[in-house]
Amino acid sequence: MSVVMTDEQRALLNTPALSGHFPLHFKYGYTVTALDVTCDGCNKIIPLARMHGRISRSSPFVADVRAIAYCDCGKVAIQRIRLWDDMTFSVLNGDGEWQVGRTAITWKSRLRIKVRKISLRFKQRLGLAS
Ligand SMILES: [Zn+2]
Repeated sequence: MSVVMTDEQRALLNTPALSGHFPLHFKYGYTVTALDVTCDGCNKIIPLARMHGRISRSSPFVADVRAIAYCDCGKVAIQRIRLWDDMTFSVLNGDGEWQVGRTAITWKSRLRIKVRKISLRFKQRLGLAS
C-alpha cells in the first residue's frame, strides 16, 4: 500500500526509532517507560519500536515529543505530546489545542493513562530517597 506523506512526515520517519529515548526520567522519581499510540485506521496499538520522532528537553520539567507512528495497515499519524514532571501530559488535538491528561495509579504503582489515542506507561519510585 502506498502512502502519500508530507515532507514533515518523511523527515520524521527518517529519525531513529523513538524507543531509543525511553525510559524518560524526570525529577522526583517519575519515569515514563513507554508511549503507545492507538491507530485510527485499525485500532491496534502501534508500539514504540514502530514510532519515530524527536524528543526535546528544553527544561528538566518537560519533554516535548513529536512522533510519527506508522501502522501495518498503512495509516500514518503524527502526534505532539508534552510530558511534564508533575505526572501530567498534554496532547495536541486536531484543532491546535492542548488536551491535558493526568496519570492514575492502577496496579502496583504502575501508571497508565489514556487520553484520546495516546496511552502512556509510567513508573514512580516510592519515597524521597535519591
Ligand atoms: Zn492501523
